Amino acid sequence: MTKKYIFLDRDGVIFKYRQNRYVNCVDDIEYIDGSLLALKKLHSAGVSVIVISNQAGVGKGLMMTEALSKITERMLDDAAKAGGEILDVFYCTHNVDENCDCRKPRPGLIFSAAKKYGFDPSKTYLIGDNISDIEAGRNGGCKTILVKTGNAALKPSDEWTAKPDFIEPDLLSAVKRVLNEDFGLI
Ligand SMILES: [Mg+2]
Ligand SMILES: [Zn+2]
Repeated sequence: MTKKYIFLDRDGVIFKYRQNRYVNCVDDIEYIDGSLLALKKLHSAGVSVIVISNQAGVGKGLMMTEALSKITERMLDDAAKAGGEILDVFYCTHNVDENCDCRKPRPGLIFSAAKKYGFDPSKTYLIGDNISDIEAGRNGGCKTILVKTGNAALKPSDEWTAKPDFIEPDLLSAVKRVLNEDFGLI
């Protein structure tokens, strides 16, 4: 059986969305209802979770690399305690003006992860709360699901510059869709 992978954005998907603020330290972490259960369901179904996230706060000097590592460690720990597993985390810590190829909507993080684990990104999903996630997913060839627990939900959908394949209220619903309906088919 081929291994299955899924890409998840972090803030506004797993962690509660903090409008105009970053999750700067472990004390800022709050989980969206059902997000840890969603991680458990993915793990139980044999789907490996890869988190991909823009964290320009590091590039801007607002957050130390060490603080970001602690946040990551805590997230991995909490996922494990909930019966889930996050296989890997890929961050873009560049500033917007550095024009890197990994800051979403660019697909660099998707390609790095796919290369590292040897899978085809067109055989997977990306779940995000921001239109830049959807664009990144598209650019990386993934199927995309927008969840309404973060950024894009603040704008009317006719202002969205990319259309997701599916829209779901939150991560848990998105994961149920992936597991029930589609994952076996792509
Ligand atoms: Mg987000
Ligand atoms: Zn980058």
